[in-house]
Amino acid sequence: MKESRGGCVECRDRPCIKTPSGVGYCEKHFEVYFQKKVFSTVREFKLIKNGERVVVALSGGKDSVVLLHMLHRLRQKHPFRLEALLIDEGIAGYRAKTIKVAKEECKKLGVRLKILSFEKEFSKKLDKMLKKRMRSGACTYCGVLRRRLINKGSRGLKADKVAIGHNIDDVAQTVLLNMFRNEPDRMLRFGPGADMKKSEGLIRRIQPLIRCSELEIALWAELNEIKIDHISCPYADEAMRQHVRKILNETEDRYHGTKIRLFKSLLGLQRSGEKKKKKKLYECVECSELSSTKICVGCRLLKEADIKV
Ligand code: SF4
Repeated sequence: MKESRGGCVECRDRPCIKTPSGVGYCEKHFEVYFQKKVFSTVREFKLIKNGERVVVALSGGKDSVVLLHMLHRLRQKHPFRLEALLIDEGIAGYRAKTIKVAKEECKKLGVRLKILSFEKEFSKKLDKMLKKRMRSGACTYCGVLRRRLINKGSRGLKADKVAIGHNIDDVAQTVLLNMFRNEPDRMLRFGPGADMKKSEGLIRRIQPLIRCSELEIALWAELNEIKIDHISCPYADEAMRQHVRKILNETEDRYHGTKIRLFKSLLGLQRSGEKKKKKKLYECVECSELSSTKICVGCRLLKEADIKV
């Protein structure tokens, strides 16, 4: 945990954290600061309207569990419906533990949880699917197919919004990753700026924790006694994201505020991109999901793995 040089900015007490903008807070004032930051993000980007049905994409990891708690608090002030959706990819030794946390937290807060699995929807668990995989990495299969089930599950729940637990570290990593891969369009579709307008036929994704750092989220979970299993996915190390994460953390340590500046750069790029014409979306000829290509990436990956859906 980082220590601020001075005391808490509010009361001069001993700080428990230094925020991404370099300000120190004690435990009590960190609680106030964190909640204010999340609620003001919801307000500023107009993420939720009263009476809407919001579905949290819950994994049982710290980000999505803290998101569930924050939205539960928010709905005490501004009534909206809150439900959760969990995708069980079928990763041995990993997902079962996070599902346990997800179930416990939903029960604690009185939130209904729906679970969809790769095994049921695609006839194979991710672990088994990967034995057949051709060119793509584990996270590509996992991410693309999970997104597809989140869309399906949230449509089934009649969601107005799907809330995702992305934080500022995810934003900074995504910006760099998409630059490294020369995929600027994907970068522009990420984050609150991309979600300003609902694309026809897609449920709007919202990211209320987008301004919070991983460290802040972990601290909030700790202070609120949320039991998080810090187990990592066995495929995480093969992902380029881990490498980018390391580079960014080292850069942030040396040049404080790097992640915030990347977030602001993304918002600036999205504002200028908004003025340009929106890319046409097709109905995938295989599964009818909306896609920027005539056959969506999910169907291409399933074909590669010899799976008929
Ligand atoms: Fe899926 Fe990759 Fe995340 Fe593991 S690390 S849960 S494979 S996206």
